[in-house]
Amino acid sequence: MQVFQRVKDLSDFQQDLAAKGASLGFVATMGALHEGHLSLLKRSISENEASIVSIFVNPTQFNRAEDLQNYPIRTNEDLQLLEAAGCTAVFMPPVEEIYGDSVKSEQIDLVGLDQGMEGEFRPGHFEGVATVVKRFFEIIKPQRAYFGNKDYQQVLIVKHVAKLFNLPIEVVGVPTSRYSNGLAMSSRNFRLSEKGMEEATIIHQQMMWARANYKDLNPEALKAQIRLHFKASNLELEYVEFADSEGMHIVKEWSNHKSVRILIAAFCEGVRLIDNTSLY
Ligand code: AMP
Repeated sequence: MQVFQRVKDLSDFQQDLAAKGASLGFVATMGALHEGHLSLLKRSISENEASIVSIFVNPTQFNRAEDLQNYPIRTNEDLQLLEAAGCTAVFMPPVEEIYGDSVKSEQIDLVGLDQGMEGEFRPGHFEGVATVVKRFFEIIKPQRAYFGNKDYQQVLIVKHVAKLFNLPIEVVGVPTSRYSNGLAMSSRNFRLSEKGMEEATIIHQQMMWARANYKDLNPEALKAQIRLHFKASNLELEYVEFADSEGMHIVKEWSNHKSVRILIAAFCEGVRLIDNTSLY
């Protein structure tokens, strides 16, 4: 497994692949890897001759300095996991390699996909995501890129960025990896106690409850019930929302939408967790 830190060091690797006509799959991560990240890598390995994973904690997508400072770093463990999983190459640049001396987001039109949910509660987050994804796509030039549906709004934004800048990259959304109790795997879980990991399963339980009950309640009434269920738990709900699966428009009436997702953000032991799933 080759490990690159500088953009210029990637060129021999890329030329070698191009000479062989080999396709490159790309998985963008912020490290602290778990089975969810590895499921994206496995998918990439199964669909491409070579796979590259980036490990880069992108400063521009954090709206709270505290969140960035506390983000878990586990580089040695990450590299071991990637090597064992059969990854071809890792790109782990320092911040200045991506941003020079201007650590700022670009202005990219996200056509409203960034309205609501993560965009609303993390101002500037998706500008940072769009900026870094565009730069990584331009540097790495993969044929395919794999992103987790756990960050569903992000998947739609990444697809939009590839299209907006005419980048010939197929963006693939991959299903969320979960523990057997339903909790979505997340790097942030590394900061939870065992009790917290157990309590956090309410997020998945409420999504399943919504799926079982949406036909009997309108969206507002369903959200009100879910808020009550969270009030009786140790988690602090930030939002529960129903959004159209294609445009992320907030759902006011089920009958106006062909396909809807439920999206939740909640704090558990001070750690912000997000999850979503398809309602119908
Ligand atoms: P992150 O390191 O959190 O930025 O995540 C890197 C990529 O892994 C993103 O595309 C995430 O959506 C994806 N990812 C994170 N958690 C999971 C999961 N539990 N299942 C599948 N993909 C995930």
